[in-house]
Amino acid sequence: MKIGVPKEIKNNENRVGMTPAGVFELTKNNHDVYVQKSAGLGSGFFDEDYMEVGAVVLDTIEEIYAAADMIVKVKEPIEQEYPLIKSHHVVFTYFHFASSETLTKAMIKSGAVCIAYETVECENGTLPLLTPMSEVAGRMAVQQGAKYLEKPIKGRGVLLGGVPGVPPGKVLVLGAGTVGIQAAKMAAGLGAHVTIMDINMKQLRYVNDVMPNHVVTEFSSEFNIRTRIKDHDLIIGGVLIKGAKAPKLITRDMLKEMRPGTVIVDVAVDQGGCIETTKATTHEDPTYIIDDVVHYCVANMPGAVPYTSTLALTNVTLPYVLKLANQGWEKACETDESLSKGLNVVDGKIVYEEIAEAFNWSM
Ligand code: NAD
Repeated sequence: MKIGVPKEIKNNENRVGMTPAGVFELTKNNHDVYVQKSAGLGSGFFDEDYMEVGAVVLDTIEEIYAAADMIVKVKEPIEQEYPLIKSHHVVFTYFHFASSETLTKAMIKSGAVCIAYETVECENGTLPLLTPMSEVAGRMAVQQGAKYLEKPIKGRGVLLGGVPGVPPGKVLVLGAGTVGIQAAKMAAGLGAHVTIMDINMKQLRYVNDVMPNHVVTEFSSEFNIRTRIKDHDLIIGGVLIKGAKAPKLITRDMLKEMRPGTVIVDVAVDQGGCIETTKATTHEDPTYIIDDVVHYCVANMPGAVPYTSTLALTNVTLPYVLKLANQGWEKACETDESLSKGLNVVDGKIVYEEIAEAFNWSM
């Protein structure tokens, strides 16, 4: 198959759909790979790295789409890319169709086969192509939180690990899913005292089994949250109710209970946030302060570490890319139920119920 890897053109997107290691696997399987000039630069991969493993580097995005049958990228296509997508293309990327009627209509019009990373789903309900980004964001949450706790950027002036003779800082993690567990692990690694909350006892039992003793699990209730926020320095929001807006676990009035300089990192901001005062911020201007509490609410945290994020993403997409390339999309989806859940738009029709529902369309 002929596979195209275009350069991402969405603002501030430095990830790329395939690493040289991925190209190596595809060319080994006798596929032709076309990579757009400088597509990997933002993630630290040079054109020469791709050429060395057999890719053909083409100058323009138009050449990539013209040469390829399957396009592998990262972000949903933006308006400039719509006319490049034709009916013979299979496009494998994040689409998030339900949040854009314009994109959905454009892809229907293109007649292409659109397979969305975010809806590829394992038998146990996990979303394998979303997990690595939650892992990145969870770990980054502690790194960012530790930084914003510094006094010059209006934090409490607390060193999370403490020093001999001075107790460590306290981190409260809301949600013990992928984000929460990674955040707790990082905070524990720094030596902080960690409290992690969830309403799912199975998750709390797991965390209790695998984490060191200075990570304490506690059931998530309003009473417990109100108690803990009074003396915790860093609060990380990582809750998710699939398909719904995040529940507001910390309301505006509760900010007054926190000590000045407390830092909130609300990772769940992309689902509306689990703090009432959350509003999405960017890497250029990541924080704001309300009632002396520092809020960090960047909606695309992994974008700040494109090298790690690209590697983490392509580790999990590559097996599916290989399957699609080796078998063709129809056979690949027939034989792999998880991948078939990724089918969103086929031959000008929506084939994923929730997307049709999002626009009140019939399927
Ligand atoms: P997950 O499903 O693995 O974990 C969510 C956890 O929240 C679950 O264990 C669930 O039981 C728990 N939960 C639900 N209601 C709760 C409550 N009332 N109190 C405490 N816990 C509760 O989800 P995840 O992969 O960890 O993602 C968490 C959020 O982070 C999602 O909204 C995701 O989209 C977001 N995210 C944001 C970024 C970013 O850049 N900002 C990056 C990746 C993920």
